[in-house]
Amino acid sequence: MSRLVVRCESLTDTVRLASCVAGVVRPGDCVVLTGDLGAGKTTFVKAAVAAMRIPDAVTSPTFTLVHHYGTGANTVVHADLYRLERTGELADLGLDEARDDGAVAFVEWGDRVGDELGDVLVLTFALDDSGSDTARRVTVSYRGERWQRRWTGISSAFLGEFADAVAQ
Ligand code: ADP
Ligand code: MG
Repeated sequence: MSRLVVRCESLTDTVRLASCVAGVVRPGDCVVLTGDLGAGKTTFVKAAVAAMRIPDAVTSPTFTLVHHYGTGANTVVHADLYRLERTGELADLGLDEARDDGAVAFVEWGDRVGDELGDVLVLTFALDDSGSDTARRVTVSYRGERWQRRWTGISSAFLGEFADAVAQ
């Protein structure tokens, strides 16, 4: 089993999912968010930052590409790679430095740079085919050993919160 499919009926469920993720991330981790515009990636990051008890207002880094939140040992770096023109630009965003300093990275459209981000937890957001405006299907998977060794604990935390999540 290496992926979980979670159905979020509404924003409330997305907030619950973000709390689950906030509960499992550790300093230096990177969480990639993929899915179409409007699928809920930025909304998810807002909720995750709030669940990490960082009081900053989260806004989409669509144009600036990167925002930093929090202070001290509890920080987040939030990037959006949608407008990244060359993979080489990635280094200029300072994600590696922030992660080395202990920030948790949330990277929208992180799939655009292949495996340059290293080991990542991946959340893929899709509109649900039920036709509801607020329903989302979120697939949680990962890449790399950093997550593989934690996956059993992480997936059981998710299954504990979302009893109808489907493990694949
Ligand atoms: P993205 O960053 O993927 O482009 P945003 O988070 O900016 O998407 O926008 C998602 C929009 O969908 C927001 O207006 C949000 O309020 C709305 N929305 C409705 N239901 C949900 C849900 N279940 N999860 C996330 N966003 C939702
Ligand atoms: Mg966004």
